[in-house]
Amino acid sequence: MSYGKVVTLAGERETEIVDIDDKPDVEDDAVLTEVVQTNVCGSELHFWKGEFPVPNGAVLGHEAVLRVVEMGDDVSTDSAGETVEEGDLITPVYFQPCGECSGCSHGQFYACEVVKSTGEWMMPHSVPPHFRGTFATHYYVDGGQRFYKVPDDVPHHVAASANCALSQVIFGLERANLTQGESLLVQGAGGLGINSIAVGKETGAEVIVVEGAPGRIERAKEFGADHIVDMNEYEEPGERIRRVQELTDGDGADVGIEVAGFPPAFKEGIGMLRNGARYVELGNISTSLTTEFSPADLTLKRIDVHAMLLYQPWYLEKALDFLSRNAEKYPYDDLLDAKFPLEEAQEALEGSAEQEFTRASLIPEH
Ligand SMILES: [Zn+2]
Ligand SMILES: [Zn+2]
Repeated sequence: MSYGKVVTLAGERETEIVDIDDKPDVEDDAVLTEVVQTNVCGSELHFWKGEFPVPNGAVLGHEAVLRVVEMGDDVSTDSAGETVEEGDLITPVYFQPCGECSGCSHGQFYACEVVKSTGEWMMPHSVPPHFRGTFATHYYVDGGQRFYKVPDDVPHHVAASANCALSQVIFGLERANLTQGESLLVQGAGGLGINSIAVGKETGAEVIVVEGAPGRIERAKEFGADHIVDMNEYEEPGERIRRVQELTDGDGADVGIEVAGFPPAFKEGIGMLRNGARYVELGNISTSLTTEFSPADLTLKRIDVHAMLLYQPWYLEKALDFLSRNAEKYPYDDLLDAKFPLEEAQEALEGSAEQEFTRASLIPEH
């Protein structure tokens, strides 16, 4: 019998379940875990569709909550100094900044070039310790990787989206200095969008959501969106821009966040902002997808653009704190609206690509 299983990328829109025969050796500074739950993130879909280069045979998955199986001899606490024991639930910062590139040497770990250029956290399954993606029965937390214990008051399925969607959103909106009383435009109500609504509401902002998928609109309302601009009702970008202006006393929003992952949303989002506004670009990560855009749209309105991917690693602790305060308050239970066994990862990816649900999860059997 094999030790575990991983889901690998086998080609465009193709996955493969691969058996891993041996238990990996756990280095002194590393932690071996079982995957309790892992989510299908929007970036997984980009990888799966072949829109973003990843190594052949790479193990998919990065948004997850894990249970500690074995700790290296030197590990006794998480990255915040909390004692950790076998059986505890943890969540990892899924990327490992190199510490040496131009971004890292300026302390901007979210801008690490090595992570960007090689997708280093996505190693082929053939390379030990094999379990370096979370679409798997197990996951190996490397010594250089931060990880945090899941607070007792945060249900594990809620914690599963902390290490990607929520951390990125908190980081992005903090960079854009979203403040109480401001209007926040959220373009797209998938996983990132729903988390943006929650963070916006907790900041005291008035939240306007642009979305077209009926299930996502419902979810956005449940999470407290103040206004929905339904793309089925406002079909053209110009109509949607006018609607957002109407909702903001004719001015446009103070802060916008693009989490639709659709290039034309960028131009439209800028059009929805007031002069001097801030814009967080988070959703578009595929260089193969383009749109026509005049940079003058930015200069004429003096827009500050914060382009974000990843986060400063310690923001994962902030994300867990956020959930500890608010997990009960928002219907996070409903956010993860489709659950699949690991063996059905392909179906989970296909349904996610069709936007059949807000966020799908995989629950490996142990
Ligand atoms: Zn993600
Ligand atoms: Zn680096």
